[in-house]
Amino acid sequence: MGTFGKDLWRGIVSLVMPQSYCLLCGEPFGPMDFSLEGRQICHACLEQIPFVVPPMCQKCGRPLRGNDEGTRLNSDPEKPGLRGNDQGAEGDRGKKPRPRAALLCSECRRHGRIFQKARAVAVYDGIVKERIHDLKYRGALHVGEALGLLMARCLEGDLRLLASDMIVPVPLSPERMKTRGYNQSEILARSLGKVVGIGVVTDAMARGDGVMSQSLLKGNQRRRNLGDVFEVVSPSHVAGRSVLLVDDVLTTGTTANECSMALLKAGARSVSVVVAAVGILQSDWYGKNFVH
Ligand SMILES: [Zn+2]
Ligand SMILES: [Zn+2]
Repeated sequence: MGTFGKDLWRGIVSLVMPQSYCLLCGEPFGPMDFSLEGRQICHACLEQIPFVVPPMCQKCGRPLRGNDEGTRLNSDPEKPGLRGNDQGAEGDRGKKPRPRAALLCSECRRHGRIFQKARAVAVYDGIVKERIHDLKYRGALHVGEALGLLMARCLEGDLRLLASDMIVPVPLSPERMKTRGYNQSEILARSLGKVVGIGVVTDAMARGDGVMSQSLLKGNQRRRNLGDVFEVVSPSHVAGRSVLLVDDVLTTGTTANECSMALLKAGARSVSVVVAAVGILQSDWYGKNFVH
């Protein structure tokens, strides 16, 4: 479409619908930009999002190095139950296929994962990191709505996850809920649930009191601290059901694992995870600089 055609089109659109704004940057939204369920994210924002692309960890969805050497580093034929996944790296296209162990990040190789799998929209970096910060600490709820839409797009074609019986957001502790006034994971979950048509259950699980802020804790300390914090308060809600757990960011994967354990103990049939962003591990990343 030429400039004239585009202008004409914009003119017609502005006549039939009110001016709308990008959910991520607040700029006016053009008719050619991304739109889902009547909500919009502008092209300029979409271009800056460091979307997760293969190769990625088959368990937690963390992006990994894209060449053969990295693939070998992340495969472990000794680990039971992880063989036989023939997911190839991007660089292998057109080459003769050969059997390969599952691609796993170093965190998933080190720690068992209780959830079936996790998928992430983007790398926790750049515009995504900034906007998630706005969502959590500046009340930018529209960001949660935008990222929820992108989560729905991320799950497109993943029939197993889309067949989940319910969406459960990772809960906040009562103290945090009091000071923040909302749970960012619930905002994400509601936006996602609306698009994919899966009900959001917020009263099934609770997070224990007296937990130190996770950002103040590192490594083992973080793991120990999270030991038995999550609790399913109404097991009847989750018993026998497949749960899609929603969180804003997956770093070590400990939170997702602990929630999954609580849900499975309460009788959930299975737990999968979807997050807005995933942290990458320096030890797993040798490719091009991903920082935007
Ligand atoms: Zn924008
Ligand atoms: Zn992983």
